[in-house]
Amino acid sequence: MILRFLGGVGEVGGNKVLLECKGYRVLLDFGMSFSEKRKFYSEPWLSPRAWEDLAGLGIVPEIEGAYRFQPEEAEPLDAVFISHSHADHSGCLSLLRRDVPVYCGETTKTILEALSVVRPRGLENDLEGLSLIAFRTGSRIRVGPIEVEPIHVDHSVPGSYGFLIGTPNGSLVYTGDYRLHGNKPEMTVDFIEGASASDPEAMITEGTNALDGEAIGELDVRDKLNRIVLGSKGLVLADFSMADLDRLNTFLEVAEESGRRMAIPMRQAHLLRALKGDRGLRPPDPEADDRILVYKRSKRSYYDWEEELLDRCRAIGAEEVKRSQEKLILACPFQDLREIIRIGPEPGSCYLLSTSEPFNEEMELERERLINWLDHFGVPMYRVHCSGHAMPNEIRRSVEKVGPRRVYPIHTEHPGLLAKFLSGIAEARVPEIGKAEEI
Ligand SMILES: [Zn+2]
Repeated sequence: MILRFLGGVGEVGGNKVLLECKGYRVLLDFGMSFSEKRKFYSEPWLSPRAWEDLAGLGIVPEIEGAYRFQPEEAEPLDAVFISHSHADHSGCLSLLRRDVPVYCGETTKTILEALSVVRPRGLENDLEGLSLIAFRTGSRIRVGPIEVEPIHVDHSVPGSYGFLIGTPNGSLVYTGDYRLHGNKPEMTVDFIEGASASDPEAMITEGTNALDGEAIGELDVRDKLNRIVLGSKGLVLADFSMADLDRLNTFLEVAEESGRRMAIPMRQAHLLRALKGDRGLRPPDPEADDRILVYKRSKRSYYDWEEELLDRCRAIGAEEVKRSQEKLILACPFQDLREIIRIGPEPGSCYLLSTSEPFNEEMELERERLINWLDHFGVPMYRVHCSGHAMPNEIRRSVEKVGPRRVYPIHTEHPGLLAKFLSGIAEARVPEIGKAEEI
């Protein structure tokens, strides 16, 4: 078998690993590379409009038979496997040839479809015609001589999986994104045990937190948030990833303990409604959970999905938030900041930044703007977060337990550092973009 790393090399995300075996070709994750895109574009003002932009600028790599804009004669890829719904793993799906089957977790399928509805349709958001085939832990998917067994892992979005891949040349382990310090470490443990039993030739592991790791878990996040919210007087504003259900549950618990209710964006409420039927998940139900209100953004007209949800959930608008600041935690992602002009946070209000550290220049600029808003309104900020990604020691322990002969750190800006950190346990290799690795 031959492995080619086409993304996620020396960068956080943009994962694309091409696996070739006896004429079959399978892609593990099909993520958008934000660092490549950022070199040319500054969204939403300057964004790619056509396939030629992405391909011509080299933002997406050349992969024969992968893109719907390429000539039909090329042999299509045999399958794409998506580890989870984050865009750095799934963001190129919109560009995929429609005759290539896509395998992903049931929850991931629901999340991808729900998010696709709430985002503006375009080049990078069009799932029309794709065949998303859902798997669960224990499924075995055969593609020619390749057999993929997905096993759940704990990450900052539900429905995340790692893959055990069997081939005639031995087995391969692909971790996707994972952690052991979250609320459900047992899921990652299941994966690591399965991986260990597969006696792999090679393991591809994420390595996001090579620097600036922080050894705190979701329960620590809850305690910290509790202390801050209990000590706050006015409105509590919070920014966290809307598909991170662990964090949402944490905020709901904190809201309950402080006698507040949680107002969430319409997009997040739509996602929760879509996930309602999910067997394993039991997400909070915005229609029935007394702790949840849906924040009705101030605008002239609403999309159908917004109307439907405003009909079914308890909605709250800017005026009402303004009057009941001490009774609320308002989830306020960066793009909703303009809402606080109408609300006018009272003295004593605070802003809780509960997302990852800025790891690039663009996010740094965003942070500067956020601070200007907070300065203007006199709102202090606290940062409380636990990472969705494994800490270096967790990675080392996992590789030790799995016992591969070779290990490749990807999804990190510091693959060389991690390769040295992991050497001695396995032959640690720094992947090179596009280079064939024979296994
Ligand atoms: Zn990722």
